[in-house]
Amino acid sequence: MDIHEYQAKEILAGFGVPVPRGGLAYSPEQAGYRARELGGSAWVVKAQIHSGGRGEAGGVKLCRSPEEVQDYAQTLFGRQLVTKQTDANGKGVYRLWVEAASEIRQELYLGFVLDRKSERIMIVASAHGGMEIEDLAESDADSLRRMVIDPAVGLVPFQARELAFSLGLRGGQIAQMVNVLTACHRAYRELDATMVEINPLIINGSGDLVALDAKMSFDTNALYRRPEVAELRDRSQEDPRESMAGDYGLAYVGLDGDIGCIINGAGLAMATMDMIKLAGGEPANFLDIGGGASPERVVRAFRTVLTDRNVQVILVNIFAGINRCDWVAEGVVKAYREVGMTIPVVVRLAGTNVEEGQRILAESGLPLHTADTLAEAADIAVGLRQKRAA
Ligand code: GDP
Ligand code: MN
Repeated sequence: MDIHEYQAKEILAGFGVPVPRGGLAYSPEQAGYRARELGGSAWVVKAQIHSGGRGEAGGVKLCRSPEEVQDYAQTLFGRQLVTKQTDANGKGVYRLWVEAASEIRQELYLGFVLDRKSERIMIVASAHGGMEIEDLAESDADSLRRMVIDPAVGLVPFQARELAFSLGLRGGQIAQMVNVLTACHRAYRELDATMVEINPLIINGSGDLVALDAKMSFDTNALYRRPEVAELRDRSQEDPRESMAGDYGLAYVGLDGDIGCIINGAGLAMATMDMIKLAGGEPANFLDIGGGASPERVVRAFRTVLTDRNVQVILVNIFAGINRCDWVAEGVVKAYREVGMTIPVVVRLAGTNVEEGQRILAESGLPLHTADTLAEAADIAVGLRQKRAA
């Protein structure tokens, strides 16, 4: 789960990372008010969306008067901001962060990620920040410093100092960097984060380190024990298809194709997507309804898949071990009637109670397409899809 920059800054500040003063605004008037409240002579208006690359997309603007802050805020509110990291629809701007502008002497990059190879938290840092890490890795790979943290001892001070030195920091900045590193590491560990990124971490006009931007992501499987993090969720920034699936407890990932998939088991879901591709089609989603799927759960899966307007055909593929084909068949029939299905549905059932399941489908009188094997089901689905496209 992602959170907004201002939320990440508040969290990191709580652990001791220095951040600029700022205030949140839900309207242009409030943005202007925030600028006056903060005082000074320059402010930065920052669109709060779950994406980086806002600067290049016009989502970050340096302003010289509270009126300018308010005017720029006016142009941002309600806009769909498209950045390099969003899709073509962009993300809606409903909150702005107004910050006292900082003077930048140098921009550094600092990230904490989970390194799957070493199975440890890894720090990635560079003395040349500001640009996205992907671009940095490409154009300036030599500047990247990587450091793996041993979970048994944690981040030890000498390691943090070594990293600070290698980034060219001097004097009081060393202690400041050690403080920032320690704080980020603690925040990462104590809140079950999967990513902490400060880009840029700047050296300001007074020569001090300040987090000018902040990004944090969290392990959704750990949210149950981090209610203070869970409540930061902002549904306006999520793919509506995935939000709905999340509420239903379904594992769903939206994709770009047009064949909707309802499958049980993550492995079978992957295999089904492969088979659709092999047959010449494109899956619209990954969806695992899980074991022991009740008819109600199947109905929810249908509703979730149908929130995607691109879907032209639905392919249901169930291998019932824990599941029961008759339950799934009941769910399919129920869903078909409840949602007023207008697109073709292909069903392949195998495993526990398969005869009973097939009998329910056949006796429903609904125009369902059935298949015995996965390959056959994928072929039928792709064929139906092509017929609709023609
Ligand atoms: P991102 O583009 O979404 O990563 O947003 P950032 O918060 O990183 O801001 C983008 C860029 O705007 C930064 O890299 C800075 O160059 C610039 N910027 C942001 N805040 C300030 C500020 O207070 N003063 C100045 N001079 N530039 C800023
Ligand atoms: Mn940034």
